[in-house]
Amino acid sequence: MSDLIARRRALLGPNVSTFYDDPVHVVKGEGVWLWDAEGNKYLDCYNNVPHVGHCNPRVVEAICDQARRLNTHTRYLHEGILDYVERLTATFDAPLDTAIMTCTGSEANDIALRMAEAMTGKRGIVATDATYHGNTTLVSHLSRNNVPAVGFGLDQYLRHVEAPDSYRIHDPDGQRFAAQVQEAIDAHEASGAGFAALIVCPLFLNEGFPAQAEGWLKPAAEAVRRAGGLLIADEVQSGFGRCGSHFWAHQKQGVTPDVVCMGKPMGNGHPVAGLVTTSEIMARFRHAFRYFNTFGGNPVSSAAAMAVLEELEAEDLQANASRIGRLAAERLNALAGKYEIIGDVRQSGMVFGAEFVTDRDSKTPASAFAGRVINTMRHRGIILSRLGRHANTLKIRPPMPFGEAHLELLIDTLDDVLAETLVSA
Ligand code: PMP
Repeated sequence: MSDLIARRRALLGPNVSTFYDDPVHVVKGEGVWLWDAEGNKYLDCYNNVPHVGHCNPRVVEAICDQARRLNTHTRYLHEGILDYVERLTATFDAPLDTAIMTCTGSEANDIALRMAEAMTGKRGIVATDATYHGNTTLVSHLSRNNVPAVGFGLDQYLRHVEAPDSYRIHDPDGQRFAAQVQEAIDAHEASGAGFAALIVCPLFLNEGFPAQAEGWLKPAAEAVRRAGGLLIADEVQSGFGRCGSHFWAHQKQGVTPDVVCMGKPMGNGHPVAGLVTTSEIMARFRHAFRYFNTFGGNPVSSAAAMAVLEELEAEDLQANASRIGRLAAERLNALAGKYEIIGDVRQSGMVFGAEFVTDRDSKTPASAFAGRVINTMRHRGIILSRLGRHANTLKIRPPMPFGEAHLELLIDTLDDVLAETLVSA
């Protein structure tokens, strides 16, 4: 293990982070399970990339079958990408009916920002202050917690608004958030940058998945529309049925974005991502920018992505996310009744977690405690993580076939670990 860590550092450079004080060396996956090199088995409660389960047979078969026949760049005619985009866009509301396929979510967000520039002739972007949208030069600037050392002069085009936090900030209908968005829009207009787009994850998943009433994002979307900008939904994490009630999280929010970006779960681990937009925006973008992507939507990527959609439907996994998510919230709330350290429980389909606080009145984050819990859970064979501004919220986001028995194992183990960690604290 230490040999692997040293090789990783030497070959891949410093600062290439791993999870846990004692990283897991995974060698095999199946469904919601992972195995390490010593044969230990882990319940995967964290990974949203293997959306329909690790090494899902339908996806593996689709990839192998297509790879055996043909894989090449995207300048030839091939029905794979067309069949896929047809099926993908059918999951969207009008007028979202056209797509670009990429290899990463970062690229998709990068294109979306350029689409906003093509449509508005302006460059000012508004984003939330505690999120992550990717790693291209432009997109990496959107992350406040990851500010690049070299700015390329892009900062003048970015303004951040406070990420919603249903536990600490009172904003039941999204009006407070919308007022902040309006302020940022006005500031962009006053600075000469002009306002081009608001980009958000509709569930604010990287920011602690706050509890929100349906339609919470509507006032902010209206502010964007009034100003003539684009609403970009980064659904890299929130899409493909994860929120349970809807296939796309923006549908839950009651808004139709101008561009929806997707990635991570799209190919179940195969690097395929993309965006869906309107024909009008696509035409303006294609006119303004020459865009080509060697690998995006190639025959193997399209086959992998198609198999994910088929599997989601065949196994009714969106409904599973809804059912298991509700149960998870119940079970976590029961733990909150037992442990004072749980200040808040939040859930949105197959994303759920508990926020740890040292004191429920002051809501002081128990960040170190959260760190101890996830590291102990790892040694008990449960993979999960933590997130939020204070890194004190459990992030539980399992593959979609996660079932009731898996949930029981997770909650029972968490119950034990909380009891133990509190005693040793
Ligand atoms: N958007 C969101 C919300 C993400 O969580 C991520 C990845 N963590 C990205 C974009 C970037 O995706 P990728 O790593 O595929 O470029």
